[in-house]
Amino acid sequence: MALTGIEIFKMLPKTNCKECGLPTCLAFAMALASGKAELDACPYVSDEVKEKLAEASAPPIRPVKIGPKDAQKTLGGETVQFRHEKTFFNPTIIACRLGTDMADADVDAKLKQFMGLQFERVGLNLRPEMFAIVDKNGDAGKFAALVKKVMDGSDALILLRSDKVDVLKAGAEAAKERRPILATATAENADAMGALAKELDLPLVARAESYDALAELTTKLTGMGVKDIILNSAPKSAKQLLQDNVAFRRAALVGKFRPFGFPVINNVSLMTDDLKKQALYAALGIAKYASIVVLSDLAPHAIFPLLLQRLNVYTDPQKPMIVTQGIYPINNPDENSPIAITTNFALTYFIVTGEIEGSKVPTWLLIKDTEGLSVMTAWAAGKFSGDDVGIFVKKSGITDKAKTRSLIIPGYAAAISGDLEEELPDWKILIGPREASHIPAFLKSL
Ligand code: SF4
Repeated sequence: MALTGIEIFKMLPKTNCKECGLPTCLAFAMALASGKAELDACPYVSDEVKEKLAEASAPPIRPVKIGPKDAQKTLGGETVQFRHEKTFFNPTIIACRLGTDMADADVDAKLKQFMGLQFERVGLNLRPEMFAIVDKNGDAGKFAALVKKVMDGSDALILLRSDKVDVLKAGAEAAKERRPILATATAENADAMGALAKELDLPLVARAESYDALAELTTKLTGMGVKDIILNSAPKSAKQLLQDNVAFRRAALVGKFRPFGFPVINNVSLMTDDLKKQALYAALGIAKYASIVVLSDLAPHAIFPLLLQRLNVYTDPQKPMIVTQGIYPINNPDENSPIAITTNFALTYFIVTGEIEGSKVPTWLLIKDTEGLSVMTAWAAGKFSGDDVGIFVKKSGITDKAKTRSLIIPGYAAAISGDLEEELPDWKILIGPREASHIPAFLKSL
């Protein structure tokens, strides 16, 4: 049973020393009770009190680590129901199903497709991350061989699924470097699967089709000492998927119901064979709380929109996306190429670079740090003033790369041209177009 803020407060030192980052012990107690602070932030809590507070301070949704030590991913660990309340931290893992009934050539093709399916966007590498490897014939040797093939042919995270404990164990041995997930514990096999997960210290998927049965199952597994559990309610429809995922998140965060305080998996490949429908179900899972979605295929037209959707859902709404300040060569510019400048708001950067690339005109693009503000906002906030931009251009090192002494500024920042000319007396200031779509024609006219 979770403790209230007042109950926690009674156990704190009450010195109000502020070392936890909060003004008083009471404020810290309240933050702890609502899952907004970590107990470790107070250095003065005794071990005895720590033990008592463990229940109250445990994250409402357990963070489950998977993957190799040097590239671990976390499932769950979320603290809010709605992204605008804070942010979502641990993006949904997108997985593809592989089975021991597949021909070698098909597996090879899937591995190749997996490794090639990577997209650069806003400076990030977007890609699916996992294979869900399914035992289809109960052959431990065949299962382990497929797992090894996936290990050798990809850097994928791994989920292993079999009804048989010995088969699962053989797969886990082959994949142990990547801390795989074991699947699936049910009411019927919970003792054996729980014992295996505990012995190997690996996360375990728990599946039941009713809330009561699932809560009973996770309580049993937790009692056996299995700490890392992933919930699977095996939904049969989009409506049920949404309803279940929301119910689990609400129960964990609002109701502080520990049996549902775990990440959720949606295996949409079992809901339909139609890849387009799978992509729609996966999109629901990404929007509402799935930590893993499993599809049957990696066709780019299904995966790419999911990657973009995930990027949007898991971007901190309070922090603008930014690119690094610096000099960006586009279309192989040389010392005579034009020089343009804009802000480091990621959207601005990507639209402007896209248009310059499309123009095929070799160009140096200077990106000035405006804390992620767009041109007009940055100018209005005094972060893209003539003085500022002038000083940045002088210090940027562009004069070592280009002889050109004309600077193209965004049309929306035309007002800074006078100050800029004073700051850069040897330069000619050219006012570029207001709309990015006019950039190619403007560059070609120079
Ligand atoms: Fe109180 Fe501990 Fe925070 Fe100090 S660090 S104010 S003792 S809760």
